[in-house]
Amino acid sequence: MMFNRRDPIEDLDFTVQIYESELERIKRNLLNSDIEEGGKLLGNIIQNGNSVSINIESYIDSGPQVDNSAVHLHPDGHYQEAMFRVLERFDDGIDHIGSWHSHHCNGLPQLSTGDINGYAKDVNNYNYRPNIFVAILVTKTSYSAFDYKAFLFFKNVRMYKEVEKEKINVVHGTYPYNEILLSLENISLKHRKLTNPRETIQPKPIREVSGEDVIKEIRIEDNKWLKDHYEFVKSKQDKSSGEIYWEWQESHRGKALHISYKHPLELRKYRKNITLQAIYNGEILHEDTVSLNDERYTKIAPFIDKSKKKLDKRLKN
Ligand SMILES: [Zn+2]
Repeated sequence: MMFNRRDPIEDLDFTVQIYESELERIKRNLLNSDIEEGGKLLGNIIQNGNSVSINIESYIDSGPQVDNSAVHLHPDGHYQEAMFRVLERFDDGIDHIGSWHSHHCNGLPQLSTGDINGYAKDVNNYNYRPNIFVAILVTKTSYSAFDYKAFLFFKNVRMYKEVEKEKINVVHGTYPYNEILLSLENISLKHRKLTNPRETIQPKPIREVSGEDVIKEIRIEDNKWLKDHYEFVKSKQDKSSGEIYWEWQESHRGKALHISYKHPLELRKYRKNITLQAIYNGEILHEDTVSLNDERYTKIAPFIDKSKKKLDKRLKN
């Protein structure tokens, strides 16, 4: 029985089973890549009373014409659709049940807002059969460490949930038609290499992802976001430290409060915070740091509110 959407989600017990061979395949894939990768998950979802069992058996790779970078991934949808039609000829019990993608290259440990909106749309797509969409997010890949999270999105429900680690079972086994998927995946990768010389398919030890490349991409993202949300934002560079920052003016009780949003120079392990500053009359009135992750934009408005309160206090004295 498929997941019954009338049962409240809190009353259901979700478990995820995933083949060890598929986790190995994902890992192999990521060790050879320093950009976001992903795939369309295949398997089935079975409900038995209150327990819902999500079985991940395999995946369809992102295809020869995937569009991906260190901060984004747009799979080749036509390819994935066609591949699924082929597989259905062999196995009419297989379903598309979600997708996986990686943030191993940018260190973001959570789904981005874009990811969340995308998955909420996917699960509600008319052509998507199951009532649950499972999203696997790989957060870490190296020879010694591999980590991932599993999230569930539901049809017609405005929420998603993370599956607890102890509810994810790695099981032995291989999908019977994996040969088709693996050979096509290799051909996709070869094609990507031929059409984009930057791509590599030879196994090599994971190298440290250049923090500089990632910060460049984040800079583009932040520049767009800030300019969309605050008027007269100017991007500047600190002459002595070289740090990039954005500055704009907030007026409060006829006074000008300058807000600055500063990027770290590099995205190194211990130094990946944004510095927010509120400056009044050339003096720092309030300062805070914000982690460089998907939540960062939500911290700006509360920071401004707090700065305005500090300005009130200052003006009273
Ligand atoms: Zn993402």
